[in-house]
Amino acid sequence: MEKDTYIIAEYIKGSIPGETLEMVTFAGELSPKKRPTIVLLGRDIAGPAQGLAEKTGCDIIAVMGENLELYNADTYRRALLDILLPLAPTWVCLPHTAMGYDLAPGLSVGLKAACITGVEAIQGRTFTRSAYAGKFLVDISPTSTSAVLTVLPGSFRPCRDFRGPVGRVTTVERSGSSPRSWTLEIKESPHRDSALKDAEVIVSAGRGIGKKENVDLLKRLATLFPRSAVGASRSVCDLGWLDYRHQIGTTGQTVSPKLYIACGISGAIQHVSGMKGSQTIVAINTDPSASIFRVAHYCVVEDLATFIPLLIEESGDLPPAGHRPPQPGWP
Ligand SMILES: Cc1cc2nc3c(=O)[nH]c(=O)nc-3n(C[C@H](O)[C@H](O)[C@H](O)COP(=O)(O)OP(=O)(O)OC[C@H]3O[C@@H](n4cnc5c(N)ncnc54)[C@H](O)[C@@H]3O)c2cc1C
Repeated sequence: MEKDTYIIAEYIKGSIPGETLEMVTFAGELSPKKRPTIVLLGRDIAGPAQGLAEKTGCDIIAVMGENLELYNADTYRRALLDILLPLAPTWVCLPHTAMGYDLAPGLSVGLKAACITGVEAIQGRTFTRSAYAGKFLVDISPTSTSAVLTVLPGSFRPCRDFRGPVGRVTTVERSGSSPRSWTLEIKESPHRDSALKDAEVIVSAGRGIGKKENVDLLKRLATLFPRSAVGASRSVCDLGWLDYRHQIGTTGQTVSPKLYIACGISGAIQHVSGMKGSQTIVAINTDPSASIFRVAHYCVVEDLATFIPLLIEESGDLPPAGHRPPQPGWP
């Protein structure tokens, strides 16, 4: 019998992020013959629910209520359990985002289901996630009949626009029960750097740069390109070599520039999930077995302290960035 799969969608600032569409692809692999049902929570979400039904062809349960306007773990979990418990789902899928990994454990307890987080790949009922900063891959199979799964953003392609019949939208009003806490406002962190989002070229620093002073080397490399910015791994931010607004990855920013130059970055999945959508990835690393080379298009096995100055020196023969004649593929 085909399994019942439910996706918990995200709805942020009036739009549904791409991670929700990736979940539709993931759910298709979980249960190929039956389209998943998407649960969307919010206040005035009739329009987005209809849009999602048209785009995905999935049935939508739109759960609407005053308390649900802004994400709150307590109110969302209670609303979801009210909906899901009578449906006895086999799979409940969430993106592995701040909302997803906050909600998943509570949902799995309420549903008496297994909880598997950070899923990157699937084979039958076996789910693969990475461990120890991407150095190991772990295969996990649930022994219970149902499971709550969080899926790492970027691991599956977003679903294409569905050309079949539009899904059915069911609206559920949820009001009343007084929440234990109330989310008053969600606002953008002042640490976020819009320069990273807009950059066509990102030169990114990892712990392999060795010391804070070497950030200048990367900045010099970045200035060779118009519309460029400097990014960083979390280790670099934790060390205080760059501010957290530069951090790229699961708990930083997600970027997809034309060119991403990873300098001394090992390629932990938490970093890769934030940059693997880049059009061209160049990685510079002394370790030929570094995980970053699995996603890089160009792999440079070199000491960055030697390679980058040479690269800058070589490009000194080029006219300044703004005056270069257009070249195919030149960012
Ligand atoms: C819940 C959670 C969330 C996280 N979120 C993020 C996130 O958003 N973003 C993020 O980046 N990380 C995140 N992390 C951390 C992540 O797991 C890794 O620890 C981190 O990305 C590693 O940073 P790194 O690659 O700079 O350092 P390392 O893993 O130490 O790698 C350094 C690399 O530099 C290379 N190297 C050394 N010397 C040189 C040299 N001279 N020249 C060239 N290469 C050299 C080494 O071979 C090595 O591959 C998160 C972790 C957790 C648990």
